[in-house]
Amino acid sequence: MTATAQPLTDFRQNSKLVCLMCGLENAPEAVFCANEACGKALGAFRYVTEEMEAEAIWHESLAEKVTEFIAKPHFFVMHGLWIGLWILLNTGVLAIMTRFDGYPFSLLALLVGVEAIFISGFVLIRQNRQNQHSAKRAELDYEVSVQTYRRIVELETMLQRIHTHLVRLESENRLLRREATARSENP
Ligand SMILES: [Zn+2]
Repeated sequence: MTATAQPLTDFRQNSKLVCLMCGLENAPEAVFCANEACGKALGAFRYVTEEMEAEAIWHESLAEKVTEFIAKPHFFVMHGLWIGLWILLNTGVLAIMTRFDGYPFSLLALLVGVEAIFISGFVLIRQNRQNQHSAKRAELDYEVSVQTYRRIVELETMLQRIHTHLVRLESENRLLRREATARSENP
């Protein structure tokens, strides 16, 4: 699901904050969505992670899943076990079957080499995605800064107008008071 930048009125309905991701109505003072599964910041934001997930091509999603698995200890334990078993079988320590890849274990080296090629490819794809993610985040931060700057300028202009109006009212009031005093002194 993708949420694009929208005016503030879209997520403020009847003084309740509506989450653009899951649609849950939150209390007016809420900062994050109360839905535990969602937990997004409430506002007219774009959600970079979700945008990128929605735009991901199949090999990018696959690279995400593979690299997530590789980063877990299970991966190293699993590899330690199967490589150890392979060596034990092919050195004759475990004599439960005939050797199929004697020392220097060329087939094992080939398999591990091919696996390394795929893993480095997936890691590069993931790195590329992370770079894109960072670039999008920076762009979003810039957009938010520009919007904040514009709002501050608007508020400053508004305050300036209020100040000018108050000064004018005050001088008019002073003039009226002076006229009233003059009239009371010289009836
Ligand atoms: Zn939500």
